[in-house]
This record gives sequence, structure tokens and C-alpha cells, in this order.
Amino acid sequence: MSFKSLGLSDALIKAVEEKGYTTPSPIQQKAIPHILEGKDILASAQTGTGKTAGFTLPVLQYLTATKHPKYRPLRVLILTPTRELAAQVHENVREYSKYVDIRSTVVFGGVKAASQIKTLRQGVDILVATPGRLLDLHDQKAVSFKRVDVLILDEADRMLDMGFARDLNKIISFMPTKRQNLMFSATFSNDIKKLASGILHNPVEVET
Ligand code: AMP
Repeated sequence: MSFKSLGLSDALIKAVEEKGYTTPSPIQQKAIPHILEGKDILASAQTGTGKTAGFTLPVLQYLTATKHPKYRPLRVLILTPTRELAAQVHENVREYSKYVDIRSTVVFGGVKAASQIKTLRQGVDILVATPGRLLDLHDQKAVSFKRVDVLILDEADRMLDMGFARDLNKIISFMPTKRQNLMFSATFSNDIKKLASGILHNPVEVET
């Protein structure tokens, strides 16, 4: 199995080849085709499995294929539990989007909001964020969720452990109901299953 046979574009393949990847990892092989088809995904995946490329590559492909020539509304939101994970995911997004015209940024708490607001105002296609700071920025009207059509929850179990359930539901309430949802979690407690059933529509379950 190759990245090409998964249906990814040459620009994305060039970026992953530069990273030294030769073959898609198991989660990438299983998840990417479903994500490209627009399906919701519930994936059990630990860190180190290649899950970040598993959700980022198909989403970049979708964004480039459906890009508006003039407008650049926020269309993909990636939520993570911690700043460290947000920064790491965004670094990956930047690397994989090296050869496509897609803009991204990352926002998290603990640093001043001013430069985050400035970048958001310039327009980004993809935003990686932690829930608390994202809601603050939304309250300040620095970001709109009205055009978000893909929502990705990374390490959803840790988000629940950290008490982000209310923030998550609030963020989701500002989004269009018609959207694609991708949820990644290392564990599947009853709380995670409940969160998933409230967010995902007929998800394909992917295990590694
Ligand atoms: P992740 O689980 O997304 O944190 O990725 C774990 C590590 O695997 C990261 O250092 C990635 O750069 C790397 N990686 C992701 N996909 C592949 C792949 N297909 N082949 C080799 N390494 C990969």
C-alpha cells in the first residue's frame, strides 16, 4: 500500500516523502480512504501511530480540492487537550501543507491573545486550538465557526479528563450541523462513548 494508492495528491505525497515516510502506517491505511469519502470516524489511536498525518493529509486534500479563489473562511478545526499537543499537531500541519496553498495557525492559553487575533483576522483554513482559549477568542469575535465543515477531536479522552466537555459542546453549538467529525481517543470509557454519540453521525470505527 502506498500514499498514492490511498488517493492522496502529488503535492501531499511530496511533503510526506520529504519527511522520510515511505509507507502509510496502519491507522493511515484504514482511516484516510473513509475520511476522503467524507465519513465520520471514531478511531482508537495512541500517540506514535501516525494518527496526526492520518487526519491531516485527507483534510488538506479536501481543502485544496474545494478551495474558494477569494475567501478563506475557517473550515477545519482541530481541538486538542494541551498546548504541547496543539503546537505539535500544528507543526505537522505546516509540514504536510508545504506544497499546497493552505494557511493554518495554532491558538492556546498562557500566552497573549493579540498576535493570535491578528493571525486569525488574516484568514486561516485550518485552526489547531485548545478549547478554553478558543472560546475566549470566539467571545471576542476574533474567530467564526460558521463555515467549519470538518471538526477533529484529538485525544478526546484527555479532553474529557481535563474537564473540557462543556467547552467542547459550546464550541460545537456555534458550528453548522452538517459537517464531518473525526474523533481520536486512546481509551473508550462510557463518557467517551456518550460524547461520541452526541457528535458523530454513523461513524466508521477504526482500530489500530
Ligand atoms: P503521531 O502518532 O501522529 O504523533 O506520529 C508519530 C510519529 O510518526 C511522528 O514523528 C510522525 O512524523 C511519524 N510518522 C507518521 N506517519 C508516518 C509514516 N507513514 N511513516 C513513518 N513515520 C510516520
